[in-house]
Amino acid sequence: MTTTLLDTLRTLVGPANVLADGDLTAWEQDWRRRVRGKALAVVRPASTQEVAAVVKACAAAGTAIVPQGGNTGLAVGSTPDDSGTQIVLSLTRMNTVRSIDTDNLTMTVEAGCILQNLQDVAQNAGVLFPLSLAAEGSCTIGGNLGTNAGGTQVVRYGNARDLCLGLEVVTASGDIWNGLTGLRKDNTGYDLRDLFIGSEGTLGIITAATLKLYPEPAARLTAWAAVPSMEHAVALLGLAHKHLGAGLTGFEVMGQFALSLVGKHMPQLRVPFLGDENAPWCVLLENSDSESEEHARGRFEALLETAFEASCVTDAVVAENLTQAQQLWHIRENIPLAQAEEGLNIKHDISIQISRIPAFVAHTDAVLRREIPGVRLVNFGHLGDGNLHYNVQAPEQGDPKAFLRDHEEHVHQLVYDAVAEFGGSFSAEHGIGELKADKLEKYQSPVALSMMRAVKQALDPQGIMNPGRVLNR
Ligand code: FAD
Repeated sequence: MTTTLLDTLRTLVGPANVLADGDLTAWEQDWRRRVRGKALAVVRPASTQEVAAVVKACAAAGTAIVPQGGNTGLAVGSTPDDSGTQIVLSLTRMNTVRSIDTDNLTMTVEAGCILQNLQDVAQNAGVLFPLSLAAEGSCTIGGNLGTNAGGTQVVRYGNARDLCLGLEVVTASGDIWNGLTGLRKDNTGYDLRDLFIGSEGTLGIITAATLKLYPEPAARLTAWAAVPSMEHAVALLGLAHKHLGAGLTGFEVMGQFALSLVGKHMPQLRVPFLGDENAPWCVLLENSDSESEEHARGRFEALLETAFEASCVTDAVVAENLTQAQQLWHIRENIPLAQAEEGLNIKHDISIQISRIPAFVAHTDAVLRREIPGVRLVNFGHLGDGNLHYNVQAPEQGDPKAFLRDHEEHVHQLVYDAVAEFGGSFSAEHGIGELKADKLEKYQSPVALSMMRAVKQALDPQGIMNPGRVLNR
């Protein structure tokens, strides 16, 4: 049976694109290297028709399919389980920009396009595709839409969902739904596009998307500010909204401990205000303006002046040019990598109403420090969207592996219970995958879960699309 399926797949996509032997680590291991599965094969179709044919063959054989883009997901959703019976369907050969329409401000692209390449294509056409995240050099737009990725520009442009007008999807039965449209208004029935976005490959396979483009900003200014408390960081955000209006495109917060890990593991990066006792938090903020650089700088300086007067900021540096701005962003983007260098850690990707974040952080820090002495808190994130990566590093002395074994579930429970108490979400932008399927069961409302199961049953009655992810039953 299995041999027959592999033979069929070889006929459909060519023998070189069905990888069943050799080292498949790149497809079988998750980005954080915490989970390693075993695939029946990695299948790499080159067109929507090939994806449809592969899905039909797998459906006929009752074989589960795990869609995969860049495999940078952080929720264990893109790697196979360890049964050796699932195929990984890699979209990376589908990497064509089908069209770009600068009058309509849209482009239609295939799912396997690397995010950074799409940013470049847009830039070369004199427009902007604003989705941006640290994994942009290797994640794909299919994965971005599959997870409804957020990133650093959400405060202005929204997340992947907000940037997508239409989709092309291969359904679980192998049919092709052409929902590619550049329309900004289209109320013709249920919104199928929004069902597939964020469904993490559990309802169908996104093969192409029509994406929104924006005018390139005329000026972009970036500052790094030292702030005396999380309350002040939130107050600074309020001032930034007031002074910059829609020009505010990024507002990131970083705790000193998170920055100290960058200082320790990437000493070539010069972190402003590192170790400054008056700056337990730093904020990276960006202003993109359609007016001249001079005008933008004036507004930016007025903001910082007001912020100094209100004691929201104790010190600040403003990037003089694009290179300096990129260096500042580079520091922020390197926090997850520095954390990985420091060793095993426990990650949370949470969102809380912005006004409640200071109280949440004070409360949860105190609970964790009381329950697990010596614990180190790596807190950073997209404060402009109320999204924190509230991570926990093992105490300095001791074995991180043993720490995770003994404390991981307890830490999750303490953090997620606090999130629930503060009316937040335990998964802001990384999705559910396999990692948080049990948490969805615990923290999502029974009514919502029952509707989700009904949707899954309707669109994937055989249960072959990424089983065990999002919904674990
Ligand atoms: P994969 O990891 O391959 O897949 C992710 C999920 O989408 C899986 O469930 C998979 O089955 C599904 N999928 C993939 N392709 C398709 C498709 N064509 N159709 C249907 N389903 C599909 N995420 C953020 O939101 N914001 C951040 O700021 C951010 N920063 C990151 C920084 C680093 C250093 C890293 C490693 C990751 C970061 N991520 C972030 C997480 C990750 O980059 C995103 O989730 C990204 O969108 C995943 O894209 P991918 O192509 O790698 O998808």
